[in-house]
Amino acid sequence: MLGDTERQDLSPLMERKLGEEIMRDIRGDPDYLDDAPILEYLNNFGGALVAARPEVRGETSFDFFFFAVRDKQLNAFALPGGFIAVHSALMLAAQSEAELASVLSHEIGHVAQRHIARMLGQQRQDALIPLAALVLAALASRAGGDAAIGVFSAGQGLQIQRQLNFGRDAEREADRIGFQIMGEAGFDTSGMVAFFGRMQSASRSYSDLTPAYLQTHPLTTERIADIQARIREQPYKQRADSLDFQLVRARARVLQDESGQGLADAEMFFKIQLEQPGRFQQAAAQYGLAMIALKKGDPRQAQVRFDAARDVLGKPPAAGTFSAAPPTPAPNAILTGMELDIRLAPNQPAAMAQRALREADAARLRFPLSRGIAQQYADALLGAGKVEEATRYLRDQVQLYRDEPKLHQLLAKTYAAQGKIALQHMALAESYALSGASLAALDQLDLARKASDAGFYEMAVIDARERELQERRREQLKEKK
Ligand SMILES: [Zn+2]
Repeated sequence: MLGDTERQDLSPLMERKLGEEIMRDIRGDPDYLDDAPILEYLNNFGGALVAARPEVRGETSFDFFFFAVRDKQLNAFALPGGFIAVHSALMLAAQSEAELASVLSHEIGHVAQRHIARMLGQQRQDALIPLAALVLAALASRAGGDAAIGVFSAGQGLQIQRQLNFGRDAEREADRIGFQIMGEAGFDTSGMVAFFGRMQSASRSYSDLTPAYLQTHPLTTERIADIQARIREQPYKQRADSLDFQLVRARARVLQDESGQGLADAEMFFKIQLEQPGRFQQAAAQYGLAMIALKKGDPRQAQVRFDAARDVLGKPPAAGTFSAAPPTPAPNAILTGMELDIRLAPNQPAAMAQRALREADAARLRFPLSRGIAQQYADALLGAGKVEEATRYLRDQVQLYRDEPKLHQLLAKTYAAQGKIALQHMALAESYALSGASLAALDQLDLARKASDAGFYEMAVIDARERELQERRREQLKEKK
């Protein structure tokens, strides 16, 4: 069988496992945008694209996961196992949800057609293929000692990713499926050509912003013709962009660069955006300014901006214009989350804690699926001194949502407040383990074992977890070879 030309694809199970390992690394990377509203938006949006054409799940039946990376390059890419990344810059460059959908649908197409698995399968016979190198880089960075040299911060992974080329046939296939998805989901497919054209012209005016996406997806005349032929075949229903799209883009703009200069640039941008037409755009600009005020430790100013955002949304459209939006703003989890952020800000007077808890409690009942609000509720419980309740709530949450490092960090905080040292270190260990930092996790387990309050039960759990983590490390070192 060796030397045979027969190709052996990576099995769906192995592909998912590989993807999950890479994700553990990425979650620990400072450039991973661990921002609940952005993650929720991308997964709702991407999930709707997948649902529009459920057969893209195919034999693999992957649960897709969409996430954003803090990066000024225009790019998006798929990892093994249905994990799809979009760069913050690409979210900002997309002028409509149709444009964002065009890129995400194309990446879903790569996953659906198992292009990655096929490449990795081929890799057994061929010389080094970039994606396998990316995977190895991810594994190497973690095995090489837990420092936060993830795929992205090292720059190496992306360097490789940029050269990643599935080949022309695979790209056509991904385009075809991307088109079907967009059509089924009711998006304007012509947005794709416009978006790619704009990326191309951006690359001409800013030579430092290499449009990575276009290097692997050049907009050749052949591709344009292909796309345009498909557009003619496909009628679409006009669909308005959501308020959430504008709000998460405002978040991405603030989070993309949180340096003093970065925030000043974002502030300038939002002030210009305030003068533009469009209620959602204006509300998003106020929302962005509220977020900047919070970053600067000024919750009072944040509240002023937030109220202004609400005012814009509550205002009926100007006379003579048509708007399908309701005159009173619908309940919105992202806006509610911002209001809670303001209540929970460190510079608020102590009396605010009770109000924050009341509102967070109402919010979690209203938005039971929002992970961000669930975490804010735990924060509010802690802030109001309800430590026991916070602990109980968080223990339930970590059972339900097993891959959120933030929950374990919050749990560690509640244990610290209760003076439970062993449990505090055990919670921190889980948070590190989920971020791919097995060594740091093992250190925490060690501290937990040495804590004076580590009882028989804790010792047993510590021992078991230590064995698991050491086993994981051994496997990683093996894979590296
Ligand atoms: Zn592609």
